[in-house]
Amino acid sequence: MDKFEETILSMWGMTPKDREESDGKFAALCTCPSCPTYTACAQDARELLFCLKGKSFLCISEEKGCLCPSCPVTAEYGFRHTLFCRRGNEKTQRYEHGLWGTKMI
Ligand code: SF4
Ligand code: SF4
Repeated sequence: MDKFEETILSMWGMTPKDREESDGKFAALCTCPSCPTYTACAQDARELLFCLKGKSFLCISEEKGCLCPSCPVTAEYGFRHTLFCRRGNEKTQRYEHGLWGTKMI
């Protein structure tokens, strides 16, 4: 089990309020607004924390680089993936990469 899986497991016991507070804490650290891929639309819609919440809802259509690898939230959670605003959150990308990497015999 890697760091991301351990962190997700440790969150299972959290109340909705604790989860909301945790998301708020990490949203404050999110470096997306400084990223070339981030747009004014995403800013107006207050979209952040794509790594946990999932893709942008219609605001981001082009990939122009990604600051996720240097974001403190990546270090905290141990993400393997990037470009979450376009490709889905860490959980989704792990699932998709897992399926595509699976050999059906
Ligand atoms: S890892 Fe990326 S999406 Fe997640 S908080 Fe950091 S910059 Fe935002
Ligand atoms: S998820 Fe990555 S690519 Fe998308 S806006 Fe945030 S830092 Fe940029």
